[in-house]
Amino acid sequence: MPAFKNPIAVGALLAMPALAAAADTPAKVPGFDPTAIDRSVPACTDFYRFACGNWMARNPVPPDRARWGRFDELAERNQTALRGILEKVSADDPRREPIDQKIGDQYAACMDEGAIEGKGVAALRPETDRIDKLAAKAELPAALAHLHAGGVNAAFRFGSVPDFKDANSVIAGTDQGGLGLPDRDYYLKDDAKSADLRGKYVVHVQKMLELSGEPPAAAAADARAVMDLETALARASLERVKRRDPANIYHKMKVAELQALTPAFDWKAYLAAAGGPPVAELNVTVPDFFKAVNGQVESVPLETWKAYLRWHLLHENANVLPAAFVEEDFGFYGKTLTGAKELRPRWKRCVALVDSAMGEALGRRYVEATFGAEGKERTSKMVAALESALERDIRTLPWMTEATKTQALGKLRAIANKIGYPDKWRDYSSLRIVRGDALGNELRAEAFQVRRDLDKIGKALDRSEWSMSPPTVNAYYSSLQNNINFPAGILQPPFYDNAMDDAVNFGGIGAVIGHELTHGFDDQGRKFAANGDLKDWWTEEDAKEFEKRAGCIADEYAGFTVAGDVHLNGRLTLGENTADNGGVRIAHMALMQTLAEAAGGPGGPKSPPGSTSERGFIPRERKKPAPIDGFTPEQRFFLGFGQVWCQNETEESARLRATVDPHSPGRYRVNGVVSNMPEFQQAFGCKAGDAMVRENACRVW
Ligand SMILES: [Zn+2]
Repeated sequence: MPAFKNPIAVGALLAMPALAAAADTPAKVPGFDPTAIDRSVPACTDFYRFACGNWMARNPVPPDRARWGRFDELAERNQTALRGILEKVSADDPRREPIDQKIGDQYAACMDEGAIEGKGVAALRPETDRIDKLAAKAELPAALAHLHAGGVNAAFRFGSVPDFKDANSVIAGTDQGGLGLPDRDYYLKDDAKSADLRGKYVVHVQKMLELSGEPPAAAAADARAVMDLETALARASLERVKRRDPANIYHKMKVAELQALTPAFDWKAYLAAAGGPPVAELNVTVPDFFKAVNGQVESVPLETWKAYLRWHLLHENANVLPAAFVEEDFGFYGKTLTGAKELRPRWKRCVALVDSAMGEALGRRYVEATFGAEGKERTSKMVAALESALERDIRTLPWMTEATKTQALGKLRAIANKIGYPDKWRDYSSLRIVRGDALGNELRAEAFQVRRDLDKIGKALDRSEWSMSPPTVNAYYSSLQNNINFPAGILQPPFYDNAMDDAVNFGGIGAVIGHELTHGFDDQGRKFAANGDLKDWWTEEDAKEFEKRAGCIADEYAGFTVAGDVHLNGRLTLGENTADNGGVRIAHMALMQTLAEAAGGPGGPKSPPGSTSERGFIPRERKKPAPIDGFTPEQRFFLGFGQVWCQNETEESARLRATVDPHSPGRYRVNGVVSNMPEFQQAFGCKAGDAMVRENACRVW
């Protein structure tokens, strides 16, 4: 993983990663599956159960997963395709092209368990020795810079980021980080479950230190000290909900000002060791966090810092260390935290590793094998239909003034569409990959990514870059770049199926496109202008009206529970829920327009707006496509949407996601949306009082 994640740039469709699954030869997933429907539950009572009930009964969570949905079925197919590519290029053949040598040898090295076991923990010795030799706290900045270059998340994060107020220029940024648990809440909440998890975490840290050669008593004491240090960092970390407001995480300052905040930590030494371009000013995302780092540098003994650095080094690289590390890591992060029962087969982990290290080399081969020009063309057509629906939606909004509408339409027109894969493939020629050296490859791949990231500092923003690899089953909107991105991996069934009618495809990929477009106008995206700058383009009155409507969505989803008693966080999931609701609405509008055009009605290609066709106006009722599988186009639209989200999940995973994932679980992504939509109630004949008819229906877009 890159050392520094842009704190605000992306509103993705779902949290990643979504790779790997159980079966060995995954079947093709249809765009719409009538056998997935559970007809024992009325659509108006629980639409999610209706659309997905039989699928859920047939598809329990596989033992190597914490969650299993139709997204994952597709990701599984993609992963099998990637395995085919990697197995072909992993034979040691001097005639291979350079990119095939790199991805093939990294895969082969990862698969070579014998070599990894043979080297043992000694492979990491040069790195642990560096830590052991630290003689003074003054050496910590350079030690952290070295670890950050290897992708280790220790103490804080550092990298490049667009300047929020001038998105075209890339500056340096530094952010909170350094926790081994998934969120600050895990350190600070005092309920029994949280306390129990903390206990298990300390045992895990101890065991990892023992595996690296520390005697048990010393490892136990170190693990407790690491926990104290991380708890202090957690306490100073900004909550996820607060981080959603860009104003809370934008504090541009000169290096000298940051230095004044942290007298015990020498930034000059850190920046020199990091080795990027000169840094004059930077975004210090959470200044209070860095005051806490300073306090810990002052008060915590050097020996504790060394244990902390060793722990994070081991943690980051567990996947390319011997089996004892892999199993210990899975035991805590897989079993305890997510409820998975079995480790994924090695090939799946190795495919994921190559995808993460060289996603655009592997992705290039994937695109050549699976994605034609026709895939790009049909997606572009759908995007155009969705953009024009959002335009109509904005124009007809009853609560927004003309002044703000003009701004919103300008932003909509400025959104760039990126489909399938990058125009220019990333150049990995300076990355050295060696057969039989899994750990070395990992460290060099991390260093390559970090160097590439730092080199952007001081340059203009490159909006053509992608932050997801082409085989990824996901999509995203970037506020700072004002573009929507659809990797090739998602542009296939169940999202887009050539064999399906328009209704199903608009419910699938149409709703995904609508979701990403709406992110430009959710509670976070609306704060950025057409050029990506953080800039308020709303009248005060319109902003108030927006907040009122967004508040309705926040309250609606806060009422939903998972794992028995855990409420969703309405404010954490607000952007995604707004995007889901807006996305389905404009996808539905786009479908209605497409059906009208196909019927030769108003707005159709043969009848430009404002005119009537030669045959005169034909009532839509009579030209409407016949039902398929017993469902009208409107019903198939909602079923196509609902079935994308069919999923099962362990209780542990549901709890974890309620804390860290800005996306609601599938059940609420579906029922939360349709219960707000009169279009749904009409399609299925629901009546006031039915569970899928909210008395207080919410609508932003
Ligand atoms: Zn999203």
